[in-house]
Amino acid sequence: MLNKCKMAFMNKVFEKQGIILSEEKERKFEKFCSLLKEYNEKFNLTSIKEDDEIYEKHFSDSLKGEEFFFKNANVIEIGSGGGFPSVPLKIAREDLSFTLLEATEKKCGYLKTVGKALSFDNFTVICGRAEELGKDSSYREKFDMVTARAVARLNVLCEYCLPFIKTGGSFVAYKGDAEEEINEALNAIETLGGKIVKVKNFVLSEKSGRRNVIVIEKVKSTPSEYPRSNGAIKKKPL
Ligand code: SAM
Repeated sequence: MLNKCKMAFMNKVFEKQGIILSEEKERKFEKFCSLLKEYNEKFNLTSIKEDDEIYEKHFSDSLKGEEFFFKNANVIEIGSGGGFPSVPLKIAREDLSFTLLEATEKKCGYLKTVGKALSFDNFTVICGRAEELGKDSSYREKFDMVTARAVARLNVLCEYCLPFIKTGGSFVAYKGDAEEEINEALNAIETLGGKIVKVKNFVLSEKSGRRNVIVIEKVKSTPSEYPRSNGAIKKKPL
């Protein structure tokens, strides 16, 4: 059973976003929180260690983009790390199918454990790099949506992410301060076949400050020369 204090806190966090959670989902958030803390002692998943901060800076933040995910979308997440934003989104929205792509093997092991412990269907973890799988015909332009948080600057991130989605699909990018990064990424977005359709600017809390969810629609296919090798992407970002 959830302790009353934590339940009240969670309801406060989620109700602000118009999200009503069943007891079962509340229990899943609690289980996820304890797995995150347990595995954080073995691998470096997050610098955030207190429950209240985990609920706010990871769980609530991850759900800030929930409204942009189409019903039943097939979503790939790039650079999952501790499982953000994918795991909170999957708890809240069982209709979404998720493929989590993460470069570090031990984090992939942890993410698979989370998927099993929370009894997720349609939840796959792949250990690999975005710039390599984005060229693989089994993954390229195969997804309805792509998402990422805290992986790279937006111009670099677009080259990792946009190749995975079909024309008509969307990239939901979670960012801190975004204005400078958006300006810097305009050329990358256009070159890779994207168009910004929405920037949701919000204050997570007084302490956490301002954040953004940027929605980029794929309006045309990504040219076959992208993504380039990681060295080329980093040396000469679009
Ligand atoms: N998305 C999580 C979050 O918001 O807490 C994790 C962020 S962590 C700072 C970045 C993660 O992206 C790391 O786990 C790293 O291994 C992974 N990563 C970085 N570049 C990647 C790439 N090119 N392909 C796949 N994963 C990548």
